[in-house]
Amino acid sequence: MLSEVNNSLLPYNTFGFDVQGYELIKIENKEQLEKLYAEDFFKSPFRVISGGSNLLLTQNIQEPILLVRIPGIEKNQETDEYVCVEFGAGENWHQCVLYCVENEWYGIENMSLIPGCIGAAPIQNIGAYGTELKDVFESLKAFNIETGNIENFNLDQCQFGYRDSYFKHQGKGKYIITSVILRLSKIAKINTQYGDIQNTLNQKNILNPTIKDVSNAVIEIRKSKLPDPAILGNSGSFFKNPVIEKSLAEKIQSNHPDLKIFPASGSLVKIPAAWLIEKSGWKGHKRSHVGVHEKQALVLVHYGGGTGAEIQQLATEIQTDVANKFGVHLEFEVNIW
Ligand code: FAD
Ligand code: NAP
Repeated sequence: MLSEVNNSLLPYNTFGFDVQGYELIKIENKEQLEKLYAEDFFKSPFRVISGGSNLLLTQNIQEPILLVRIPGIEKNQETDEYVCVEFGAGENWHQCVLYCVENEWYGIENMSLIPGCIGAAPIQNIGAYGTELKDVFESLKAFNIETGNIENFNLDQCQFGYRDSYFKHQGKGKYIITSVILRLSKIAKINTQYGDIQNTLNQKNILNPTIKDVSNAVIEIRKSKLPDPAILGNSGSFFKNPVIEKSLAEKIQSNHPDLKIFPASGSLVKIPAAWLIEKSGWKGHKRSHVGVHEKQALVLVHYGGGTGAEIQQLATEIQTDVANKFGVHLEFEVNIW
């Protein structure tokens, strides 16, 4: 178990904030977690980081940080129709997508190029281009810090919702996810209906897209719209798309016919947070070290030399302004430390 003391957390957050971490402990297997449990490590506060792509660090971190780096990709069930694959929590999400694409295992190609690790994917039920983790989720294994045991969670137990799960509520801070099992289809199932995918394929004259064509289209669209964290610090969408009463959405739409409304559940609908932020005049906003991305208003960016507190201040101003203008509360998607 590698343990480093007083390290910069710069390499561990995609916003690129240079705060100090008191102690970093690299976790590569479950035995290390059991050893920490035996030493009463979990009786004191601690933090968990995987890829650091959904984190806003606003201050130095005083508690020890577990860096989850558990490896492994193992097929554990296979029929003519599907394959179940267990991925170690520390595996890179996008590399796992590419592995499935190469094997023609269908289900996660629309989620190509999402940063971060497999173990963090269930925390917010990651999603993109019409697919969510829950659509391919079989189960996960997680270390319970109170009992020291590994527990299995099935789909129902994870209580997945829109960018939401049990691990953001009752299970918050109580488990370390050690592996995730996905059920992928061996029968071709392609979803090109969402957003720009079909247009991108049309432009390339691809009439019968393969799984690889879809993955490549998603990668191309994302590269054209989203800032690369290696070049411009960001954490993807800073806010969730709000799910609100249909009556409120229709009231806003009556003044703004260009507002798109997507069905959610019951009387609820989802509207794009990016639209609300753009209409409030924030798209492309720049102040000293931070701003709102010029191509995607949901993404707050760090130009360098700034602090997480500056991003938090900007996010709060946007939140207040959107609430005043449209009566809609924007919830932060990013975890703020
Ligand atoms: P981290 O940021 O390290 O951690 C996130 C949270 O999970 C923290 O609270 C952490 O404590 C906890 N955690 C991490 N690992 C574990 C574990 N093993 N056990 C228990 N808790 C854990 N998200 C989407 O849903 N869809 C997108 O399309 C998308 N696009 C993005 C694009 C960009 C450019 C960026 C920067 C981010 C994007 N994101 C997107 C957000 C982010 O990539 C995902 O939320 C991702 O799953 C975070 O993974 P991570 O390993 O970086 O998690
Ligand atoms: P987009 O395609 O311009 O769409 C804008 C918003 O409208 C999306 O957020 C999406 O909600 C919603 N939407 C569009 N078409 C929809 C449909 N057919 N059915 C239901 N909802 C629809 O969005 P974008 O910003 O370029 O992002 C593309 C995809 O990547 C989205 O799925 C987005 O969530 C994902 N993404 C996520 C992050 C992150 O950090 N969380 C960052 C970048 C991109 P949904 O979000 O529910 O799809």
